[in-house]
Amino acid sequence: MSDCIFCGIAAGAMPAERVHEDERTVAFLDIFPACDGHLLVIPRAHADNVHAADPADVAACAQTAKLMAGRVSGALGSDGVTITQANGGAAGQTVFHYHVHVIPRFDGDGVLRPWTPGEASPEELARMGALLRGE
Ligand code: 5GP
Ligand code: ZN
Repeated sequence: MSDCIFCGIAAGAMPAERVHEDERTVAFLDIFPACDGHLLVIPRAHADNVHAADPADVAACAQTAKLMAGRVSGALGSDGVTITQANGGAAGQTVFHYHVHVIPRFDGDGVLRPWTPGEASPEELARMGALLRGE
């Protein structure tokens, strides 16, 4: 994908503050960070989203995200880490090369969850469960 910014970063053709790389993945700092140390983990291979991605790349990104979570906890002394990932504009995805956010969190930092917790009745949970099990 010649016009994909994250492909450019993976290839080293676009600048990025790289923190980790291996055969399948690259981790680098987000240029519009939620907070200091906000990282992105990408597969080297282009895929628009989780649906298109090779499952092995999704697994490799999860492993790198775990490694980076340990890195931010150790190097920055964060109290917690948010690991999140968006697929599709409806989910808030803005760069269409699969990526995982690793966000250091500190007590009371005010970095919000991307949703407001709602309510679900036991009946609604059962209905959703059946739908998602394919029943
Ligand atoms: P999304 O909104 O798709 O979940 O996340 C995309 C992320 O990529 C955003 O947090 C945004 O700040 C970051 N981003 C967009 N363009 C660039 C770029 O050129 N370089 C880097 N390092 N991050 C970028
Ligand atoms: Zn790409």
